[in-house]
Amino acid sequence: MKKTLVTLGVVAVSTALAITAQAATLIHAKDVFTGTSDTLRSTVTIVVEGNKIKAIENGFLQPSDGDTVIDLKDATVMPGLMDMHVHLSTQFGGPQTYLDRYSLNEADFALRAAHYANTTLQAGFTTVRNLGDGHYETVALRNAINRGYATGPRIYTAGKSIATTGGHADPSNGISHLLRPDVGPREGVVNGEVDAREAIRSRYQDGADLIKITATGGVLSVAKSGQNPQFMADELSAIVETADDYGMTVAVHAHGKEGMKRAIVAGVDSIEHGTYMDDEIRDLMKQHSTYYVPTIMAGKFVADKAKIDGYFPDLVRPKAAAIGPLIQNTFKKAHRAGVKIAFGTDSGVSAHGDNAQEFALMVEAGMSPADAILSATVNSADLLGISDTLGTLEPGKLADIVAVKGDPLKDIGLLEQVSFVMKDGKVYKQ
Ligand SMILES: [Zn+2]
Repeated sequence: MKKTLVTLGVVAVSTALAITAQAATLIHAKDVFTGTSDTLRSTVTIVVEGNKIKAIENGFLQPSDGDTVIDLKDATVMPGLMDMHVHLSTQFGGPQTYLDRYSLNEADFALRAAHYANTTLQAGFTTVRNLGDGHYETVALRNAINRGYATGPRIYTAGKSIATTGGHADPSNGISHLLRPDVGPREGVVNGEVDAREAIRSRYQDGADLIKITATGGVLSVAKSGQNPQFMADELSAIVETADDYGMTVAVHAHGKEGMKRAIVAGVDSIEHGTYMDDEIRDLMKQHSTYYVPTIMAGKFVADKAKIDGYFPDLVRPKAAAIGPLIQNTFKKAHRAGVKIAFGTDSGVSAHGDNAQEFALMVEAGMSPADAILSATVNSADLLGISDTLGTLEPGKLADIVAVKGDPLKDIGLLEQVSFVMKDGKVYKQ
């Protein structure tokens, strides 16, 4: 690399101070999946300077003085992976998980989230969307990671999810009258347009990046229905319009058709899970350019655990058994129909760090390995609105780079063994 010398012209100083430009990191890669096409480019050097990709050159460039070489001559290099649906502060571990909210404090959740953030980064996920925490601990974690106090992916967080009374994300569900907390818009419980607006504005105030709502019932909440609509059209419009004013997107948990339909028509940005979507919903999603974030892993996980006596509360078990097994087929149909798909796992239901298992489930359901990787890079960056800086490997973009040994386009399971992780130009795993 050519070195630039900057001379400080201070007259009184006899020996001029010379500051050399930052040395480069040269990544020698056998193959690269840049995300700008669906094929590999072979024998290349990715030149990283500071936190950005400076160039991608053919052949293995020789280093200049001070440059670092990273030898990935046996690996395929890709953009950092992105998971659009995680819950870093929780990890479902059976019946006792329901006691966490009585026994843990904010700091406990925050430190647990920090641990799982590191696990997630080590698995090759350099960016995540956190779709629901308890006490805004992932806002604090995002800030700590950005400041270098903690290690983890880039976090885009919704803070506390928004539900209606008794809805999927109402934190007072399943609690006796004696202990039930008084919850409102700040805690994520809204009824009516005024509450809905307050909930968005308070999330803006508390530092959330986006909004997450639970438009239908869900599986793991202590409530009867896993799919009934839980917001009215006026509440959904108030949410989307207010979020838009504050530059926030809206991610929507939904299993049932009616709740999905109302949310898509209101103009939300993504449907999570989407279990009971049909042709009408798929058409609406294409028409409104709504992303689908499948979370097949979460479906498989709860379907599996529903077979174990006592693993779930009585209200939850039948929902898990009914909804869980359907999601992979929902994904298959959505993909075939041409609905836009962004990668998401709902990790925190399944174990953090296992995120990449979702790729094999997508490929098993008919998606090409290249498209599966694009869903976790290009499409996810698009959903986050950060395509100008991330999602592909191109000069000028941020250096979030991962690698696997072998060719993931031939064996998608290789993504479960990421061997190299760079985020923002810094190596976290090698
Ligand atoms: Zn979730």
